[in-house]
Amino acid sequence: AKQARGQRFVFYSNATNDRLLSYQEQVDALRAGLVGQQFVLEFQPRYGAASRTIHSVEALVRWNHPSRGRVPPGDFIPIAERSGLIVPLGEWVLREACRHVIGWPGIGVSVNLSPVQIRDSDVIALVRDVLDQTGLDPTRLELEITEGTLFSDAARARETLLGLKALGVRIAMDDFGVGYSSLGSLRSFPFDVLKIDKQFIDAIDIGSAGREIVRAILTIARALDLSVTAEGVETNNQLSLLVDDGCAEVQGFLLSRPVPPGRISAMLERQVKR
Ligand code: C2E
Ligand code: CA
Ligand code: CA
Ligand code: CA
Repeated sequence: AKQARGQRFVFYSNATNDRLLSYQEQVDALRAGLVGQQFVLEFQPRYGAASRTIHSVEALVRWNHPSRGRVPPGDFIPIAERSGLIVPLGEWVLREACRHVIGWPGIGVSVNLSPVQIRDSDVIALVRDVLDQTGLDPTRLELEITEGTLFSDAARARETLLGLKALGVRIAMDDFGVGYSSLGSLRSFPFDVLKIDKQFIDAIDIGSAGREIVRAILTIARALDLSVTAEGVETNNQLSLLVDDGCAEVQGFLLSRPVPPGRISAMLERQVKR
């Protein structure tokens, strides 16, 4: 966990050499990490809720820092965004994710796009280039975007999303329901997929309101012709309620945590044999 204190961030870790790192030190460490190939990807499967087979995988970046150990994305993505390093880091993630999924026929891959990548870089040209270089069928690539992304310049964000869609990729609204104006964004941006935030899945079996809210989200998604993925499914009870309510796709620790690419290959092999 990290706490912002003005210009300084505090990392709490189990290491004995905990100390304050200045913003600039962290930016330097991130840059060194990019050069030194300290980043790796894990992939978390997304499953058909009823079939429990893997439909696609979400790429999640991990930083193996030489002395601090594994730094969680929640600790370094904000610094990468603030410094602009998210642009080269995000490019690496996209290329690496597409490269891996080429070896996993029959499933798709989703990649998180930062607001900063959408705003400050030519993300359409990047995605086009990655598709060209890897030969990946664009329908197998999905880009996950949080709605917060879209506010600063909605007209431009909309143009960018339309440009991405024209390449044939799918666009998912990540963390649906947290933040604000989700419904407005669903109408005015060209989303294909809605990912229901974990906080709603946590509440689905606590009292009746939680389940009603998830049902309402599923109804909205159907009305707008969006696919749905429930995020953060941790219990069998949550999964069976989601199946009963017609949620098509699920993701969460119950079925699989994020895992290294080799494990995905093994899981897919087992799936074929079944
Ligand atoms: P996210 O995109 O909402 O990703 C889902 C996060 O929830 C992941 O955390 C995943 O490990 C975790 N998760 C999945 N299922 C469960 C569950 O059942 N229970 C619980 N408690 N957690 C679950 P992670 O990998 O730490 O990533 C955190 C966030 O960092 C991501 O949230 C995303 O916003 C960001 N992030 C990760 N990789 C990238 C990346 O390559 N690019 C960008 N721009 N952001 C990334
Ligand atoms: Ca995501
Ligand atoms: Ca999410
Ligand atoms: Ca999130």
